[in-house]
Amino acid sequence: MKAILIIADGMADRPIKELNWKTPLEIANKPSLNMIAKTGVCGIMDLISPGIPPGSDAATLALLGYDALKVYSGRGALEAIGSGLEVFAGDVAFRCNFATVNEKRIVLDRRAGRISNEDAAQLTRSLEKVKLKQSHVKFTFKNTIQHRAVLVLHGSKLSTAVSDSDPGKTGVKVSEIKPLDKSPEAKQTANIVNELMNKFRKVLEAHPINKKRIESKMPTANFILCRGAGKVPNIKPLPQVYGVKGTCIGAAALVKGVCKVAGLDLTCVKGATGTPQTDFMAKAKATVQALEANDFVILHVKAMDVVSHDGDYKQKIELIEKFDKMISHILDDVDLDVTYIAVTADHTTSCITRDHEGDPVPVAITGPQVRRDDVMKFDERACSKGGLNRIRGMDIMPILMNFIGKSKKFGA
Ligand code: ZN
Ligand code: ZN
Repeated sequence: MKAILIIADGMADRPIKELNWKTPLEIANKPSLNMIAKTGVCGIMDLISPGIPPGSDAATLALLGYDALKVYSGRGALEAIGSGLEVFAGDVAFRCNFATVNEKRIVLDRRAGRISNEDAAQLTRSLEKVKLKQSHVKFTFKNTIQHRAVLVLHGSKLSTAVSDSDPGKTGVKVSEIKPLDKSPEAKQTANIVNELMNKFRKVLEAHPINKKRIESKMPTANFILCRGAGKVPNIKPLPQVYGVKGTCIGAAALVKGVCKVAGLDLTCVKGATGTPQTDFMAKAKATVQALEANDFVILHVKAMDVVSHDGDYKQKIELIEKFDKMISHILDDVDLDVTYIAVTADHTTSCITRDHEGDPVPVAITGPQVRRDDVMKFDERACSKGGLNRIRGMDIMPILMNFIGKSKKFGA
């Protein structure tokens, strides 16, 4: 037996007035999602706890069966690992942005005009040469996609208890990084990151790429904003917990990082971008293929969350329909007599509030031995009447592992 867990990032939503108080998922034409609901067992799920809006990192930890409230240790390390960097126990990592600030450090553009990968890479090569005063701490800085980058501090006596320098909006001053507790580790970490930010700024201001950007009237990338200090979570990898081999198909660095820490392989798919332009069909084909060599496959699609943050419910409906076609390909090509397929979202992202919300998400599992219920459609309201009732995010993995014969008996 094999299993596929399909995670649609931010697909669940709240009712929208313009949609006659329906959700985008309720409006979308989605025969394949409905087929999974109709032939499966359905429910709703609180990723972390009722009313707690989950971040994608904590939600993915939960979907892999971990108690996120206990093991979550910040975003930075997960994002860095998902970007291909090595992060060791004790290291502290940050998610960074190339940004544009004025001479008073007021943020003008948090994404430096969505700087190109090429420009960011050239700037990064110069930033890598910066030297820290304290020689026992080393750093790795890597640009990922456009304005995005990660910073890892390697060394001892580091702490994640430090604030962000990224104010999260434009028109306000860059915040100095401050220790959030009284430990010498937090103080040292804050000092090091502030030192790096200042040294980075000098290098960036003088850089030929930025001179070129000024000439072309593009925003300069003259500051590195940091946020989300994190360490590697201390978790037992899934192959050890269940004796399974699994892989993750997804482009979002954060999700790849969580899956890697959980002991899963990462399958690279050409055309998978983590954006609304992602190649849905390439991901479907990769999923079917990956199932041959694995016990289970995590298939993650980021696109719906991206447009929800923009409040674009019309595009969300279109993307749900593309997502549905991707699932139809999977349903056609896997052997449904030996495969369990679960589909869900990692959180509700409201197109009205443009943010993650704490409402539960729909979940459906189809497969040869599930107790089918009466639910005929896959959406937030229909699934709430299903046989799974209301479960927690961390329940879905043991349920799937039980179906494929990998859960261990509790007791004698
Ligand atoms: Zn998410
Ligand atoms: Zn989001």
